[in-house]
Amino acid sequence: MTNIAPPAEPIIRFSNVTKRFGTLTVLDDFNFTVAPGEKVTLIGPSGSGKSTVLRILMTLEPFQEGKLELGGISYHEPNGRGAFRASERHLRQIRTHVGMVFQSFNLFPHMTVLRNVVEAPLAVLGLARAEAECRAVELLRLVGLADKKDHYPSQLSGGQQQRVAIARALAMRPRVLLFDEPTSALDPQLVGEVLGVIRSLAHEHDLTMLLVTHEMRFAREVSDRVCFFDKGRIAEQGDPEKIFTSPEQARTREFLQSVL
Ligand code: ADP
Ligand code: MG
Repeated sequence: MTNIAPPAEPIIRFSNVTKRFGTLTVLDDFNFTVAPGEKVTLIGPSGSGKSTVLRILMTLEPFQEGKLELGGISYHEPNGRGAFRASERHLRQIRTHVGMVFQSFNLFPHMTVLRNVVEAPLAVLGLARAEAECRAVELLRLVGLADKKDHYPSQLSGGQQQRVAIARALAMRPRVLLFDEPTSALDPQLVGEVLGVIRSLAHEHDLTMLLVTHEMRFAREVSDRVCFFDKGRIAEQGDPEKIFTSPEQARTREFLQSVL
């Protein structure tokens, strides 16, 4: 007899989520699930809702209808004005599960590299300083920047700053790591070093990753699944090989032709 493990519960589940800014519907009855450890790339035209999905996951945006579950916590509570928002306690719990890396690195300019990485774990996880610093140096080593720990962000290249931002996100030990166009603001010669770090993280079995990128070759290489966004919905999704070589939808084909 072989033991067959039951399929894991999704770590992320959007159920019928609608998100509006005023009269503009940005996510339209949106459904999306991600399995623990899965690496998913979101592609699609500008304005199709990709960043909004990540921002909702990061609890930076409320939404109007539907339900979001993250790591078994439901983010779905009416606030009395027709919008949904979890309680502060739930929001804090959700935030400890999720880390995000933005296009603009958003490091604290007045803090050294090391302090940028230790600040949140010290304040939020309540680690002792020695332990937090030891771990921060380990993470800086992972992104190849241990020797820059006493530098300030302005003394680093964009690629180095983004690698610090990745170390900072990892310092919170997130189960889910979100990347929103992490290389779009970089000079072309600096893109490779950041993609290299993301590639090494993609090998971490337990880490769930959602990545918005225009680096299609990279997406094909690291993702388990590619989702094509169009007008606030996932118009097509599947195995990267399939999406990039024989998409079914005309919109996906047009989009890929425009970026490849
Ligand atoms: P993408 O990341 O796919 O380019 P976004 O999720 O950023 O798309 O945006 C989706 C739509 O929502 C766009 O039309 C954008 O202009 C609009 N939008 C995003 N943020 C705001 C906001 N804070 N206020 C009003 N409209 C917004
Ligand atoms: Mg975006």
